[in-house]
Parts: sequence; C-alpha cells; structure tokens
Amino acid sequence: MATGSMINGKTSHWWHQLGQPSRRPGLPGDLTVDVAIVGAGFTGLWTAYYLKQARPNLKIAVIEQEHAGYGASGRNGGWLTNSITGGREQYLKQSGFAAFLRRSGLGRLPGGFGGGLASGSTSGPVSRDTVERFQTLFNQTVTEVMRVAELEGVDADIKRGGEFNVAYTPAQEARLRRFAAAEQRWRSTDLQLLEASEARAKINVAGTRAAIWHPHCARIHPAKLVSGLAEAVTRLGVTIYEGTRAIELESGQVITDHGTVRADFVVRATEGFTANLKGLKRLWLPMNSSMIATEPIAPEIWDEIGWREGETLGDFAHVYMYAQRTADDRIAFGGRGVPYRYGSRTDNDGTTQPVTAQTLGDLLRRFFPQLQNTRIEHLWSGVLGVPRDWSATVGLDRSTGIAWAGGYVGTGVAATNLAGRTLTDLIIGERSELTEMPWVDHRARRWEFEPLRWIATRGLYTAYGVADRQEFAGRKTTSPIAKIADVITGRH
Ligand SMILES: Cc1cc2nc3c(=O)[nH]c(=O)nc-3n(C[C@H](O)[C@H](O)[C@H](O)COP(=O)(O)OP(=O)(O)OC[C@H]3O[C@@H](n4cnc5c(N)ncnc54)[C@H](O)[C@@H]3O)c2cc1C
Repeated sequence: MATGSMINGKTSHWWHQLGQPSRRPGLPGDLTVDVAIVGAGFTGLWTAYYLKQARPNLKIAVIEQEHAGYGASGRNGGWLTNSITGGREQYLKQSGFAAFLRRSGLGRLPGGFGGGLASGSTSGPVSRDTVERFQTLFNQTVTEVMRVAELEGVDADIKRGGEFNVAYTPAQEARLRRFAAAEQRWRSTDLQLLEASEARAKINVAGTRAAIWHPHCARIHPAKLVSGLAEAVTRLGVTIYEGTRAIELESGQVITDHGTVRADFVVRATEGFTANLKGLKRLWLPMNSSMIATEPIAPEIWDEIGWREGETLGDFAHVYMYAQRTADDRIAFGGRGVPYRYGSRTDNDGTTQPVTAQTLGDLLRRFFPQLQNTRIEHLWSGVLGVPRDWSATVGLDRSTGIAWAGGYVGTGVAATNLAGRTLTDLIIGERSELTEMPWVDHRARRWEFEPLRWIATRGLYTAYGVADRQEFAGRKTTSPIAKIADVITGRH
C-alpha cells in the first residue's frame, strides 16, 4: 500500500474533499444575546437548531475558534449510530457486590461494551425500562438526523445500512458471542448474530469467524452534514462568529479574544477542546483518534469485498477500528494512533504522525488483502472528549445559566442530536421525556494531574496493543493483559 503523496492533516479528508470553507466574520466586539453557544460542532449547531425551532425569537450567537465543523464533527468516521457512550448497564440499578464495584470504580458487570470507570459519578441508577427508553431514543435519533437533513436540503451521502462488527480471531469471537448474548437480553437493540458465511456475504473480511449487525446506523459524510447544518442554522437567524476563541465561560457571559458576549444562558459545546478553557483542564481528557482514506477502489475489487449497503464496519479488537465505504467508493478507516498528548494538548489541524498511516494501512490490508496496491490518499486525526467515567453528559446549572453537553468519547455523531434536543428543553424550561434521561446532569470527577494522566493513558493503550498482538498471533482467549486493563478502565 503506497503512502507517497499522502496528505497529512488539513483538518480531514472530508474537508479536503469538500474544500476548506470560507470563514464567517468574527465577533465584532461586545454583544448581548439570549443564548451564547461556544463551539460550532454538531452539539452547538443542533442546540441552536432546536432552540430556534422551539423559540424563533431567541437571539442566539455561536462562538467558534476556527470554522463550523473544525473539530471532531468534521473529521469523524461517519457512523451515525445509536451507541450510548459507556454502555447501557452503567445506568441500571445494581445491588450487592456489583454496585460496590461500580461505585468504587473497580469494574463493571460483564456484558457491557466500550464502557468505563464509574468512580465519582453523581447520577443515580434508574430502572431497566428507563434504560430501554433511553436506547429507543438513541435508535430514533438516527432517523431524526436523516429527517432534518432531508428537510433542510443537506446532501450528506447518508446511507442507512446498519452497523456491522466482525470477529476475526478466536478471542475476538468469544467476546463477540458474549456481547451478542448480553445485547439480546435488551428489547431495544435489534441485534443479529451472523455466522461466518452470512457475515462474509455482507462484508468479506479475511478470517471472519462471526459478526453482529443491527439496523440503527447510517453512514454519513461528516463535513457535508456539519456544514449543511451550519447553513440551516444561519438561515434560521443564528449568527455563527468564526475565528473567535472563548477564553472563559462564566455565569451570564463568555469572555473571548474579540470581546465579551453577555447572555442569559451559556452553552459549553467544546468537547475534546474543553481542556483549553480556563478552569477546565482536567474535566475531560482530550483523546485523539486517527483515520486514513484510500483512493477510490476499482469495481472488480468491490465485487470481491461486497459491502454494498453502506454498513459501517467495526471489529472486536481491544484497540478497535471503525470504517465506512464512502459514497465515492473509498474506504475511510480509523483507529490506532497517538491516543493522548502530554498536558492535554490538542492537535494541529489534524496533522498526525505519518507512522499511523502505516499502522492503519497494515490493518486495512489484513481485513482486505485485495488492497495490497491501493494508495492511501489522506491521513488525519481529531480529538474527542473523555470524562473520567467514560460517560457522556448533558445538563444545565440553573443557578449559573451555564449548560453543557459532551464527553461522548467515540460515539457522538448521533448523541449530539439527542443532546441538542435535550439542552433545548432544559433551556426553555420544558420538562420532557428527554430531560428525564439518565445522562442529564450526570457528573464525573476530574482526571488526575500530570504525569499521571499521560502514564495511565499510554500504559493502557500499550497494554491493549500487546493484547491484540497476542490474539492476532493465535491466542484463543482474551489476553490476561487486556483483562487487567479492562478492570482498570472499567470495560467488561
Ligand atoms: C477521528 C474521529 C472519528 C470519530 N468517529 C466517530 C463516528 O464514526 N461516529 C460517532 O458517533 N462519533 C465519532 N467520533 C466522535 C464524534 O465525532 C464527536 O463525538 C462529535 O463530533 C462531537 O461533536 P461536538 O460538537 O460536541 O464537538 P466538536 O465537533 O469537536 O466541536 C467543538 C467545536 O468547538 C470549537 N471550540 C473548542 N474550544 C473553543 C473555544 N475555546 N472557543 C471557541 N470555539 C471552541 C472547536 O473548534 C470545534 O469546532 C469520532 C471522533 C474523531 C476525532
């Protein structure tokens, strides 16, 4: 696989393809509005969108340090999926030893997936019915995003082909089957277990042993969706001030490098960049994720691979990958990279270490050996926000008027829409089903001081990487190294 003329950074392949946007004007000076939103990613823009639908007369300003969609919203893998960050089980009422483990942060119940350390969280457990309802709302959110995109004339290459996750080692297969059994105990998941031949008929991943699939996921083109949404919001009368950096958020005002915005409500929608705001350095850890995009792949190779329906593709490795077949027949493939930069530093316009293209390219070839000579055209990275308990949160502090949403870890494309609708209800003061969901006002304790953050994150990723290599080499059961790392992070 060649990487010779590969582009590194320039925000993302998605923006490069669409063309870098021309900047909207910055904040002209001090300003007074009803609602000031900091961050023009999906969270900020969906919040502005639904607030305007609910209260057309509200004066809303969105403050953005670069341009709308500069962050993860314009760089992601394009999975519009129904995942609840940190898994569903975390919200359930638990008793006895399991509850002790969760409260103490020592582990979580088996069966959950992709979740985290629950130490120091403040929200209480809820009933199984509420968690089912929460999942159903996430399922419906996929449809809601598609509805608004169509209504607003946003063509974002959306194709709803469901989410497909494959196992290609014995240890991955064991985890997949345990996961499928646990998922099938929930009414709202609609998960199907596919044996190897059925799985390969959908997407022909080399070495497939089994896969799972569910219908609540669509592939999107991130930059097309976020830029279309920014235009829709602007048409509704919201002003997006670009090239304007917020320095500090306070009750009733946002202090920026261009002046102060006074507002009844201030919404923090800065996700992976939150650590740059005054006083919030240890709130959410900025975690990097990296992606590559190949050149367009020839039809005869696609005939061998399949992947015809726009499914998103993931796996059951510990450091998992995520991919989509793009509308123009490339593969956009994400996963390993430098996970964390010392001192919570964020990246430089998506530029990342070139060796990441090699790592991701090797894995892509492992999946599809037909791509030996396929060129990688683009490499980039983005930053996502990781709370200490790996659980997303949305809320409003009525005493200060400061609202927030984020901490979606790697699953925010759909979650931001549900968060935007929830913030709208909280801000206009309407109690609704959305405001009763368990992520509302959920708070986790802050991350440790450096160098502990750096040591812990690097150590865990190294451990997961070693475990994956052991499993690739034929280990039949989950590596004990990964099991120890799982206990520390609270996964599984
Ligand atoms: C490489 C990658 C792949 C991913 N893949 C997927 C996926 O396939 N599916 C999925 O569901 N999720 C995925 N995610 C996560 C998902 O993209 C995010 O959860 C989601 O986009 C978050 O949206 P947001 O608006 O909260 O944050 P962002 O999109 O990061 O927006 C925050 C905005 O705030 C601005 N900002 C920050 N600080 C300031 C400040 N001080 N002043 C002014 N403006 C500021 C930033 O410039 C940015 O535009 C991925 C993330 C990455 C990085």
